Amino acid sequence: MKIVKIPSKLSSLSRRMKEKGKRIGFVPTMGYLHEGHLSLIKRARKENEIVVVSIFVNPTQFGPREDFKKYPRNLKQDIRLSKEAGSDIIFYPSVGSMYPKGCSTYAETEGLSSFMCGLSRPAHFKGVTTICTKLFNIVRPDIAYFGQKDYQQALIIKRLASDLNMDLKIKILPIIREASGLAMSSRNNYLTLSQRNKAAILYQSLKMAKALIMSGEKSASKVKSAIRRMILKEKGFRIDYITVADPHTLKETKHISSKVLIALAAWLGKTRLIDNIIISLGRKKC
Ligand code: AMP
Repeated sequence: MKIVKIPSKLSSLSRRMKEKGKRIGFVPTMGYLHEGHLSLIKRARKENEIVVVSIFVNPTQFGPREDFKKYPRNLKQDIRLSKEAGSDIIFYPSVGSMYPKGCSTYAETEGLSSFMCGLSRPAHFKGVTTICTKLFNIVRPDIAYFGQKDYQQALIIKRLASDLNMDLKIKILPIIREASGLAMSSRNNYLTLSQRNKAAILYQSLKMAKALIMSGEKSASKVKSAIRRMILKEKGFRIDYITVADPHTLKETKHISSKVLIALAAWLGKTRLIDNIIISLGRKKC
């Protein structure tokens, strides 16, 4: 396995691999890898001849008062885990090489980024779409893999790739969870043991919402209230948002029919956690 730090070196390597007709799968990450990341790498391994994993804590997607500096990092462990999961190349660039002095061009997806996380993290998606554009240009993947855990991000990247005629496929893979149901996240590392136990309520509330909808509840506001009540029974939570929305447009739904996304973000102490579920209401047979 190779570790490449210089963007132009990876560009030439990718060009050579493409010339040889190799299919490149790409998994962009911010490191501190867990089973969620590894599920993406393993899928990429199955579907491509070359697997590239990037590890880059991207400063432009963090707000000024967010956790860029304290974001967990462990390169040694990431190298081991991503090698075991089957990666061929780790791209580990410096901030200076990705954003050299004078860098002043951004990629931005309007619309989808104005809902949900976009409201409380105004510059976040602009940072995400910019870094993904840069990474896609360097790596030239055939397929890039993203997790449903960050559903809004994955949808925005799909839009970005389509709107800017990028020649790659975006695949969105399922959320990997702890045994408690808590969605795996590098930020779970911030939680104390007792907070970690409490955090399981987020997924439990989504499952409760699903059961409510499956048993016939059609009112999105009633579903949202039920989720809110369940989460706030646990002390220490502050809800950022709970949304019941169209999974393609992210626009809020009032009346639940066919397919809906239920997504939420909540603070537990100083840690912001997100989770979501997609619910398909099957058509009843006559
Ligand atoms: P991050 O390092 O948090 O930027 O995540 C890198 C990629 O891994 C993104 O596409 C995430 O959506 C994905 N990811 C993070 N957590 C999970 C999870 N629990 N299950 C599946 N994919 C995940």
